[in-house]
This record gives sequence, structure tokens and C-alpha cells, in this order.
Amino acid sequence: ETLTVGELAEKLHREPAEIVKKLFMLGVMATINQELDQDAIELICADYGVEVEEEVRIDATDLENYFEGSEDEEMLAKIAEGNVERPPVVTIMGHVDHGKTTLLDSIRNTKVTQGEAGGITQHIGAYQIEENGKKITFLDTPGHEAFTTMRARGAKVTDLTILVVAADDGVMPQTVEAISHAKAAEVPIIVAVNKMDKPTANPDRVMQELTEHGLVSEDWGGDTIFVPISALKGDGIDQLLEMVLLVSEVGELKANPDILGRGTVIEAELDRGKGAVATLLVQNGTLHVGDPIVVGNTYGRVRAMINDLGRRVKSAGPSTPVEITGLNGVPQAGDRFVVFEDEKKARQIGEARASEALLEQRGETQRITLDNLFEQMQQGDMKELNIIVKADVQGTVEAMAASLMKIEVEGVNIKIIHTGAGAINESDINLAAASNAIVIGFNVRPDTNAKRAAEEEGVEIRQHNVIYKVIEEIEAAMKGLLDPEY
Ligand code: GDP
Repeated sequence: ETLTVGELAEKLHREPAEIVKKLFMLGVMATINQELDQDAIELICADYGVEVEEEVRIDATDLENYFEGSEDEEMLAKIAEGNVERPPVVTIMGHVDHGKTTLLDSIRNTKVTQGEAGGITQHIGAYQIEENGKKITFLDTPGHEAFTTMRARGAKVTDLTILVVAADDGVMPQTVEAISHAKAAEVPIIVAVNKMDKPTANPDRVMQELTEHGLVSEDWGGDTIFVPISALKGDGIDQLLEMVLLVSEVGELKANPDILGRGTVIEAELDRGKGAVATLLVQNGTLHVGDPIVVGNTYGRVRAMINDLGRRVKSAGPSTPVEITGLNGVPQAGDRFVVFEDEKKARQIGEARASEALLEQRGETQRITLDNLFEQMQQGDMKELNIIVKADVQGTVEAMAASLMKIEVEGVNIKIIHTGAGAINESDINLAAASNAIVIGFNVRPDTNAKRAAEEEGVEIRQHNVIYKVIEEIEAAMKGLLDPEY
């Protein structure tokens, strides 16, 4: 556990300069942004007569620490010793009408019920199937909303993405969006070339078009797996699932079922009869009925758990989705959950997190803008400026991107994470929010949904119609020379 001088000063309610001075007296030269190790923190705290224990208790509200296992190296190593293989968690993305829902249904209908006679599938936001004796978990919200909402909240849930492209339609705008989302999250992609049953199917065209987006098929010397399927007829589904297992094996996905459960909220809502209901994806450990649990800013005891077949279960291991009741409030998709040994601790942390969340709502979370870019660069938090470029026509998009890539300012790189022709849409904003990017619109505006989302998320949109002005502005911002806007 380390803190910067500034953070420590804040926790101790002292001026940073005072801490710097004290450190100096103790023989340590430090600046306000300097990280202090445990020893230095203890020295200072001892000097103020503050117990370091107290500091740790404040940090206990940081669920991340618990989510990652423990702040303690020894503990982490011990957890890893008990690691075993876990099923992959897969999302399906692609352009509208290319067959995402049909594929999700087809996989579920052909695979879930096998050996599970009598189960009535229940929509809980995710389901699990078995292929060749191995389990695979699917998040069953098609498209990239679920994916990005969760990522925007810092959750990494997906191990692999199936990109569905209709063979009779080829690469479309949302196909490209999906690729950008998966790439930004560094999630491997398997391409399912769908609708192969159609006489107009042209898989070569799909392969050709995807090459332009960096997905080159193995047949053509690349390393992306393409599987021709018909989601409607169920053709190629087995091959697709086998490829999912193959790619997962390479990823060596592991978890320890013997530790306390932890993972991420897939979806949650308020049910009139049952109260707060949340679908949790267990990512490590095992979740049991009766477990004291903190979920985002809510807490409780797991009262009942049902699986994707609507059956009551007593426990759920790694990569298993379950719907639980027993929380004191409704958490949000993408929130973390962690099980605690005793209920008192879970309640303390839950309550502390809830009040902290209230405080946070009052202060605004700071997203990157051109106005604060330089400041963030100076603080050393920014090594890369992520940019999304939208323009009226593809030629302009490319020209803009090329010019932006040429900007050179020491200390920060420009990274174009997505480009596209057409209005700025909600998906652009979600991607920007998840990747802390700014959006540049050239001769295009945000649509209504995008405008609302940008306001909600605090994502900056810069609109322009002269290329060199864009370049000038970004360059100025990177150098800290931007004129303030009035
Ligand atoms: P989504 O918007 O990506 O979820 O697409 P849907 O799954 O809703 O599919 C859109 C349309 O394409 C529906 O009418 C499906 O029946 C049809 N469709 C999906 N997969 C196939 C397929 O493999 N072959 C054919 N012929 N039609 C398909």
C-alpha cells in the first residue's frame, strides 16, 4: 500500500507542504506527487500520533483491493496455488440484424438443455453451456452496450468476443465499432461468418473487408479464426464452440474455487416481490447461499441463488452466472462484488461505500478534456491521448486520422482508438467513456442520444470543420497553450 505525499496530506487533514517539510526533517526529499512507501507513511503518521491501522480501515472501502485478492503478496501467491482451469466468458458483438440474438438463442437451445432435462431457461443476463465436456459462459446481452458499460466501470468480464458478420451483408459500421471495442479492451476476437445458408452469402468478401480492420484469417496468413455458420439452421455452431475452447486454452484462464467469492454484476433490478435482484458473474472463488457480501455500494447476505435454468443452487464457482437476492439496494451492471467472512465487516464496508458514493456524486469525476489534458500530463497520469474521430465522409476520416498521428509532443502519444463516417453516436461516447478518450467530430454532430450520454458521462466532444484547426487545437492542448474558452 503506497500513498503520494498529497494523498497522505489529505487523509491527515494537513497541508502537503507541511508533510514535505516533515519528510525533509526526517531526511527524505519528496515532492507532492511522490509515492511514499509504508515505512515513510508510518513515520509521518507516528509523528502526528495517528495509528496507521486507521488508514487501512479507510482503504477497506476500496473494493478493488479485495477484488484483486488481497493487498498482501503472500495471500495472492497462496490463492494462485489453488488455481484451476475455469470456463471462458464470451460476448457476442456485431452489426444489427447480422444474427447475434439468433446465435445466442441457437447456442442456448441446442446446448443448455442437454442433460438438464426439465430445466426452463431463465433470462438472467448470462448462461452456461457445455461443449465436449467443457463449460462456456455467454453474456446474453447482444451487442456492445453491456460490454462497454461494464468496462466503463472498470470491470473486465469478457475473455473472448465472437464477432458476427452476415455473409450477405459484409462489414458494416457496427462491425467496425465492435472491433474497436474489443481491441480497446484487449479481448481476442473470433469471427463467425453468419447466414451461410443464404444463396447470396459471400464469405470471401467478409474476409477481405475485415483484413482492412486488422483481422486477417488464418487461411490468408493471419491469426484470426473465421468460422462459417448459419445461426438460423444451427450449422457450424459446434465448430465455433470448439474454436472458443481452443482460444480459451491459449489464454490459460484460471481461478481458485476454494476462496471467498468475488466477481462482477451483470445486471440488476428491483423486483416487486423479491426486492433487489442481481445477476452476478463469479470470477474467482465460490459464492454460497448465506454469504455476507458487498456488491458495489450495496450489501447483504445471499438469501437465494438461482442459475440460468431457474433452479435453486447452493453454490456457484468461477465463471458461473447466478441471480441472487438479499441485497439492501440495487447495484449497477459492472459493479464488483466481494464476499466477506463476517457479516459485520460486510455491513461496515457496504455502508462506508454507500456514503462515499454519495459524496462522489456531489463532486464530479474528472474525465479527460483538452482543457485539463496538460495538467494531467504534468501529473504524469497521461501517457496517451485517446481520440475517436468521426467525420462526414470516409476520406476525411482518414485524412484527419493521418494528420493527428503526425502530431508529436514529448511525453504523450496520440492513439486513435476508433474512426468512422457519420454522426457521433452513443456507442462512440460509451467507448470514449470506457477508454477516457475525447471525440472529434469533423463536419458532423452528435445525435440526441450521444449528446445526452456525453453530458452524463462528461465526455468531451470537439466539433470542427477545418482540419488544420483541429490539429492546432490538439497540439496547443498537449503543450498546455490552449486559450481558455469563455
Ligand atoms: P441481431 O440484430 O444481430 O441480434 O440479429 P437477429 O438475430 O435478430 O437476426 C436478424 C435477422 O436475421 C432475423 O430475421 C434472423 O432470423 C435472421 N438470421 C439470423 N441468422 C441467420 C442465418 O444464419 N441465416 C438466415 N438466413 N437468416 C438469419
